[in-house]
Amino acid sequence: MTFAPPEGGREAAAARAGDLRAELARHACLYYAQDAPEISDAAYDALMRELQAVEDEYPDLVTSDSPTQRIGAAPSQAFAPVRHSSRMYSLDNALGFDELDAWLERIERELGPRQHAFVCELKIDGASIALTYEDGVFVRGATRGDGTTGEDVTANLRAVKAIPLRFRMDVPPARIEVRGEVYMPKSSFAALNETQDEAGLPTFANPRNAAAGAMRQKDPSVTAGRDLSTFIYQIADARAAGVSSQWEALAWLKRAGFRTNPDIVRAGTCEEVRAFCERALERRGDLPYEIDGVVVKVDSFATQDELGHTAKAPRWAIAYKFPPEEKTTVLRAIVAQVGRTGAITPVAEFDPVLVAGSTIARATLHNIDEVRRKDVRVGDTIVVRKAGDVIPEVVGPVPGLRPADAVEWEMPVTCPSCDGPVWRPEGEVVSRCTNIACPAQRWERLVHWTSRGAMDIEGLGYEIVGRMIETGMIRDIADFYSLDAEGLDALDTGRLKKDGSPVVLGPLMATKILANIEGSKSQPVYRLLYGLGIRHVGSTVAELLTARFRSLDAIGAAGAEELADTEGVGPRIAASVRTFFDNPDNIAVLKRLRAAGVRMADEARADVRAQTLAGMTFVLTGALSGYTRDEAGAALKALGAKVSGTVSKKTSFVVVGEEPGSKYDRAVELGVPVLDEAALERVIETGEAPGAADTADGSR
Ligand code: NAD
Repeated sequence: MTFAPPEGGREAAAARAGDLRAELARHACLYYAQDAPEISDAAYDALMRELQAVEDEYPDLVTSDSPTQRIGAAPSQAFAPVRHSSRMYSLDNALGFDELDAWLERIERELGPRQHAFVCELKIDGASIALTYEDGVFVRGATRGDGTTGEDVTANLRAVKAIPLRFRMDVPPARIEVRGEVYMPKSSFAALNETQDEAGLPTFANPRNAAAGAMRQKDPSVTAGRDLSTFIYQIADARAAGVSSQWEALAWLKRAGFRTNPDIVRAGTCEEVRAFCERALERRGDLPYEIDGVVVKVDSFATQDELGHTAKAPRWAIAYKFPPEEKTTVLRAIVAQVGRTGAITPVAEFDPVLVAGSTIARATLHNIDEVRRKDVRVGDTIVVRKAGDVIPEVVGPVPGLRPADAVEWEMPVTCPSCDGPVWRPEGEVVSRCTNIACPAQRWERLVHWTSRGAMDIEGLGYEIVGRMIETGMIRDIADFYSLDAEGLDALDTGRLKKDGSPVVLGPLMATKILANIEGSKSQPVYRLLYGLGIRHVGSTVAELLTARFRSLDAIGAAGAEELADTEGVGPRIAASVRTFFDNPDNIAVLKRLRAAGVRMADEARADVRAQTLAGMTFVLTGALSGYTRDEAGAALKALGAKVSGTVSKKTSFVVVGEEPGSKYDRAVELGVPVLDEAALERVIETGEAPGAADTADGSR
């Protein structure tokens, strides 16, 4: 993604660049010096790219201490400084294949028609190290530090078994420095965090920080206790080893006894480079260590020399970074959205960003407590991601980039839709609009009536229902049943044709919708009950209530206690149902629905059996020969029984088939009566509750 420089010209750009620099410096210190980052790498990279974009637009704003010009962080005083034999560079990044292609094309252009190859390596997500050997013996190990000077961590690196203390070669070079990555395998990282957690110590954000932290311990025995490994990929002065390409260098390092990564490719074409990157992305999760991309390097050292370096990174290499799961953007507004039950939900609206393959611009913040906990304010630069790779989510703000005038969001005291009073019941996190006539609630309620789980009226979604309300065609659910074809046919959909005239629904759609509305009249009663949108009455509760009372009239006539007596229905739901039926407005709507021919009762069907097993709970275990488990369960339910998956003291009977599982043992343990298949068959056939003769031990 490319960042647009801030609007408002040079002055605004200078201010933003200053803020970004300060914030990036703070995070670099947390990351490199303290191994304790506060934000994800993707979020850090996004901020860095934004700064880069500002500096590209206004090159005179570039300062020598800008993070765009520097590598890593200054080495810590806790270790002796080590001056590297040559600079340890960072790498330029390519986010996505477009940027990778652009880099490959640039290299091809610069090198012209000459034959050249690229070496593709996995980008190990660890910490850089430089190892010096004299006459084949390990004498010094250092961190990258700021690229020029690192920290002397020799004693700690000696404890890392993957680092050979002596070369395997007969005639090693007199002095040589090799470079690579120290990392912690994923499994060791998980185990380490578990131990830290158990000991009440802080856990590490990721394996990279755990590895960097382990390498920079004051006590080498602590490092020895952490499972670190290495992949070595570079010879600082390749001439000392007599090799002339990266491919040869990797082979030489392997021969010398270093661990080199086996997943490498020498690619002759851009397609091969791309294919390697794609494969790496696919296999990423299967590797026992973390990688965050692929490093593509021009193979020949002579060509590398020709291409040279920038202040920060070689021009002959690029790090293709995997698409990040997190991005940063600017929070423009928090809007209060009114739901069907009047619940008011704060929703974050931000500048659109591409995250994991799709553009997102809104995410729910759930409730005011969540807004406070995340401490997000309008104007903040925020980190966003997709939870479970689907649902947009605000992770939190980048605190250092908060504008001075950013204010905390407050829940409105009146409903944004109808101006009605907003109320937050004691002990609840959700605030609600209490006005039953609130248009936003009405819209949600009407759409709910048409939804899949309710009356399932195809063709009526948010848009059309919204237009119907706006044009005064409908006010409540009963109005759906008095719609006429002409009115519907001419309904303005709110969209415009190319010539500017409004798009109307048209006769075809109108006829379809009317037919679907007609069809909805014979939906089972539980769907109607659910569709009414009574608080706390989801489709399961609606089913339970209609299974017991069989008609809407019976439910409406039942007292709160009687309702609460229904299996799965507690006093809270019962009270909510009563409140609904006690409201004369609701009764008037029901009357109109009835008059329109909407089914209000599940007729007593011939196949409905007496509920002789009501109040009993059965558990089935093992294989039955005459039924599947589902069939047996359905037969028991038809007699009013409840069928559960777990055995408890409250279980009435456990039906045991062939090779029963642990549920049988549990039944014996708890003394729950056990039925065999023959007894089950008798119960199902006669409809009579099991007696003493039916149970294995004659109980009950
Ligand atoms: P980098 O990690 O993007 O790339 C350069 C490094 O890649 C090299 O120094 C080397 O150590 C490593 N590497 C791994 N495998 C390699 C291979 N096969 N060949 C060559 N090099 C290989 O750049 P960087 O300058 O080390 O650090 C920037 C990284 O640190 C970014 O990913 C950034 O997000 C992260 N960072 C995060 C925070 C934070 O707060 N989360 C702060 C600062 C930096």
